[in-house]
Amino acid sequence: MSRDTDAYDCIIIGGGPAGLTAATYLARFHRRALLVDAGQSRAQLIPRAHNHPAFSAISGVGLLERLRMQAIECGALVSNETASDLEKCGAEFALKLTERIAVAPAVLIATGLTDVRPKIAGLREAEAKAIVRYCPVCDAFEATDKRIAVIGTLADVCPRPSS
Ligand SMILES: Cc1cc2nc3c(=O)[nH]c(=O)nc-3n(C[C@H](O)[C@H](O)[C@H](O)COP(=O)(O)OP(=O)(O)OC[C@H]3O[C@@H](n4cnc5c(N)ncnc54)[C@H](O)[C@@H]3O)c2cc1C
Repeated sequence: MSRDTDAYDCIIIGGGPAGLTAATYLARFHRRALLVDAGQSRAQLIPRAHNHPAFSAISGVGLLERLRMQAIECGALVSNETASDLEKCGAEFALKLTERIAVAPAVLIATGLTDVRPKIAGLREAEAKAIVRYCPVCDAFEATDKRIAVIGTLADVCPRPSS
């Protein structure tokens, strides 16, 4: 695998809202930032977000497009690639990407998280229609005065004392 000879100040792993925001700020501070993204942002699943400042409603896909455009306009390098191995090599980090190894003195990990979904038939469709939501901060306002059901597991919050 070939080594990327470009000199980066920072490589960002993950092109969701966190990574793209970091890319914009680094570029605005004239840092040469490479962002690599595997394209699985949870934000793609947002039917319409109502809690983002400056937008009364915006889809997750629309938000990601704007964030990506803004990062690129500021000078960040954005690449659709998956990072698989990270190694410290002296003062630098070597990061294995899909077809090359990129090197930088700093790596920012913004890889998000993966939901543990309840096993319910039609869950994806219900998410897309904003019937099932995951976050009181994002969604409680839209559910004001509506009848709701809450799915969760108390075992995570209040583990039973071991006998
Ligand atoms: C159904 C649903 C509705 C939601 N609604 C709202 C809402 O209305 N308002 C709101 O504020 N939030 C909402 N959220 C939450 C929001 O989507 C997340 O908070 C946000 O996406 C987190 O951003 P992030 O950048 O941390 O991670 P993510 O958006 O998950 O991005 C992480 C990125 O890292 C990439 N990645 C991971 N590993 C690698 C690797 N090895 N190499 C390269 N790339 C990698 C992934 O492919 C992904 O693109 C919702 C989430 C869901 C699931």
